[in-house]
Amino acid sequence: MKVCVIGAGASGLCAIKNCLQNNLDVIGFEQSNEIGGTWVYTDKIDKDERGLDIHSSMYKGLYTNLPKELMCFPDFPFPPQEKSFLPASDVLSYLKLYVDTFNVRSKIKFLHAVERVRPLIDNSWEVIVKNLITNMNETFIFDAILVCTGHFNVPHIPKFEGQKTFRGRQIHSHKYRVPKTFHNERVLVIGGSSSGTDLAREISNDANLVLWSHHLKEQVDLKAIKNNVIQKPDISRLTENGVFFKDGTFEMITTVLYCTGYEFTFPFLSIDCNLSCFENYVQPLYKHCININRPSMAIVGIIFNNCPFQTFDLQIRFYLKFLIGEKSLPSRELMLLDTEKDMNERWQRGLSTRKAHSFGDGYQNDYYKDLAVTADIQPIKQYVTKMYSENQQNRKRDITTFRNYKFTIINDETFKTQLLLE
Ligand code: FAD
Repeated sequence: MKVCVIGAGASGLCAIKNCLQNNLDVIGFEQSNEIGGTWVYTDKIDKDERGLDIHSSMYKGLYTNLPKELMCFPDFPFPPQEKSFLPASDVLSYLKLYVDTFNVRSKIKFLHAVERVRPLIDNSWEVIVKNLITNMNETFIFDAILVCTGHFNVPHIPKFEGQKTFRGRQIHSHKYRVPKTFHNERVLVIGGSSSGTDLAREISNDANLVLWSHHLKEQVDLKAIKNNVIQKPDISRLTENGVFFKDGTFEMITTVLYCTGYEFTFPFLSIDCNLSCFENYVQPLYKHCININRPSMAIVGIIFNNCPFQTFDLQIRFYLKFLIGEKSLPSRELMLLDTEKDMNERWQRGLSTRKAHSFGDGYQNDYYKDLAVTADIQPIKQYVTKMYSENQQNRKRDITTFRNYKFTIINDETFKTQLLLE
């Protein structure tokens, strides 16, 4: 069986490795000339040397927000080292080690950008790829497609009154690299998730003032941060040189930094792939992964607020079990029913469309169990979600010190935690 993997970031590498272990005839297409996707740092922010949009949103000072004990694939721990939270370059080195250990590199066609994926009448797939070395299109035929192109590279910028009137700079975190570009500025940071939290803090050393607008349920305890970070509610409008917040207050600003997330896009999927994506809700997907209308296609890693590398490996093992015929998928009707039930439960919890594939503490465990039971595959180890919870609590308690914790795995169920001195 011929399998196409699109993208050679963490999820694509894991897909190729698992295909090889199942003796599948796999080819990976990667538009850049290296593996790693998100984890490849570049100073560039617009286009690469071949004119493609810069894919990675990595910034120079990034440290992981999960400990390496959760960041790893389940069967391949990070090489031992004292700290749990690592710089991005260590994650990239880890992925290179993974690739070399499982002989994944030889299966990747680098500088090959997938431009079109469409189903043929016999249910095989036509994949049109632009060879960026020759600038010529090449056509391939596959039996199955694993889409592993990542979801954190096309900025989402919400609309606010006055955005066109504002005379200062407006950038999205996708294009943020180093704090010195905010030297002496008055910066409005919008967004309360990982990037907003980290960047409000990171730029505060260079900026004069950081106004951090978020709608987190509680104010974040900013303890050790310089006192030039002020938390604000949602904004109501921008003016030529400032911002009005919903509480009626006004502040002068020079830059807006949008940490407002990303748009999920699949520009290469033809309409007859029968998948729709509206406000980051991709449907119809069985278990947030398999294209119900064309089950020889899976989208890997669409879920967020989870342990990404653990999820990639689980989703791929889940999917391959059906692809190689060791398990049969339920009928289309049953898959749709299962999805409807899951989504109804999510809407009842108050999730918005943009959070359709969000998990987080308390929910990812059920999802992991469900995949393992449904496909009869090795489950995620029990320490994973417990450690995730503890990390979330540490982070909530103090965003300035949560990375000082060291986690040590004791066995599949338990781990210990130690606060390292800086
Ligand atoms: P990507 O890493 O985005 O890789 C996708 C690959 O597909 C890229 O190499 C791209 O070039 C290629 N591609 C795209 N389109 C095409 C095409 N048409 N043809 C060919 N190739 C294509 N996760 C954590 O677990 N811990 C963290 O601390 C963490 N921090 C993060 C910080 C930032 C700033 C961001 C943006 C994300 C972070 N993440 C973190 C999430 C991270 O994105 C995932 O962990 C993971 O690396 C995503 O892997 P991926 O393979 O799905 O996508």
